[in-house]
Amino acid sequence: MSNLKERILKDGVVYPNNVLKVDSFLNHQIDPQVIHEIAEAFYQHFKDKGITKVFTIEASGIAPAIMTAMRFEVPMLFAKKSLPSTLKKDDQYETKVHSYTKNVTSNVIISKHYLQADDVVLIVDDFLANGEAAKGLMDLVHQAGAKVAGVGICIEKSFQPGRQTLEDLGAEVYSICRIKSLANQEVTFIED
Ligand code: 5GP
Repeated sequence: MSNLKERILKDGVVYPNNVLKVDSFLNHQIDPQVIHEIAEAFYQHFKDKGITKVFTIEASGIAPAIMTAMRFEVPMLFAKKSLPSTLKKDDQYETKVHSYTKNVTSNVIISKHYLQADDVVLIVDDFLANGEAAKGLMDLVHQAGAKVAGVGICIEKSFQPGRQTLEDLGAEVYSICRIKSLANQEVTFIED
């Protein structure tokens, strides 16, 4: 069993609305060993795809994305949820992302300088639920004329439609662990 699955079973807390809280080891306090193992798994899976950039959305995608980028020896780029005062409208790609946990829609942006048409991009995020975040990131990659090589997810909630949405858009989705159910405050996995 992966370190990540063990930690979910030991320290994950199931909240109402099918939200799994993992902020003692993944997205608030972060256990570098868990993130390191995730990055290695993403590397092994996508290493032959010619990845030139790892791409995520702030804030909780940043930790797994930076470790993954380090393994691939490429830059990591993250989409921002607010416009930096130093970035001009004409210099940015922009899309809308609906947040599963906060139930708000934000404009998400990146500078045009950091994605080029010849980039081959690995999208990384902590969770996959309805696929809104990854779909928005795919849109930004496509606006730049670049290619999505795949989507690497730490925790996929497989009872929600995110994987199907992304596959329908032509993306390969690889998840470290796939949760079958969070019913009755209990985590069960789809076994490998
Ligand atoms: P999606 O965009 O696929 O609907 O949801 C993924 C995003 O929502 C992730 O970036 C993640 O931050 C957040 N999210 C979705 N489900 C959960 C969850 O069960 N727990 C936590 N902590 N975040 C989640």
